[in-house]
Amino acid sequence: MRRKLVIGNWKMNGNRAGNTALLSGIVSGLNDFGADCAVCVPAPYLAQCQAELQGSPVAWGGQDVSVHASGAYTGEVSAGMLVDFGSRYVLCGHSERRAYHKESSELVAQKTIAALAAGLTPVVCVGETLEQREAGETEAVICGQLQAVLGVIGADDLARIVVAYEPVWAIGTGKTATPQIAQQAHALLRARMAQKNATVAAGVQILYGGSMKPDNAKELMAQPDIDGGLIGGAALKAADFLGIIQAV
Ligand code: 13P
Repeated sequence: MRRKLVIGNWKMNGNRAGNTALLSGIVSGLNDFGADCAVCVPAPYLAQCQAELQGSPVAWGGQDVSVHASGAYTGEVSAGMLVDFGSRYVLCGHSERRAYHKESSELVAQKTIAALAAGLTPVVCVGETLEQREAGETEAVICGQLQAVLGVIGADDLARIVVAYEPVWAIGTGKTATPQIAQQAHALLRARMAQKNATVAAGVQILYGGSMKPDNAKELMAQPDIDGGLIGGAALKAADFLGIIQAV
């Protein structure tokens, strides 16, 4: 039985005072909810998460990771640095990184390896654009993005990753994928992982992301292959984020 997982991706939002209010709102509103929960925050706020979330049920992590362990890579943050501040998760290949920073699926696969090597749980993000969906390329695009990772990890590491399906056309647009569309994509991704190892694939958490809100979360997460959410906008308000967690 897969546990549900809800991760808030703060993207480039937040400030020290606001973060404290948001984090304490989340922690104090959590009761016995049957899901794992985390926030992926801008790197400068990892220390704040460590100080304010330590000992709470909320885990934290980064939004990107370098493929390098250390050295002359200005602006990069290594997996070891994320671990140094108590991170459990890191997003790899979010569509905004793929689009704005030209991250290729091969680079995302190398980032996934770097995260795994440091003991982090990589959240491998895949998703098609509207153009690709309309051209009938959804399956090829998302399975291709996933395959780049599957090609470089073994079954033991497959058991340590989380996958997030985030259709680009649903991110920040208010247009959620219907539960049926999302389920179809999730089932495809799981089938692709099953080609590598069916037992392990059955245990991998696959999150949906893209305009998930308290009022649509329940129906999405009721789908057999939707194991939780990767939440953008609605993760910035404690009440909305808690509403999604409570929909589990
Ligand atoms: P929204 O929930 O704002 O659509 O963002 C989704 C997302 O990109 C999470 O990583």
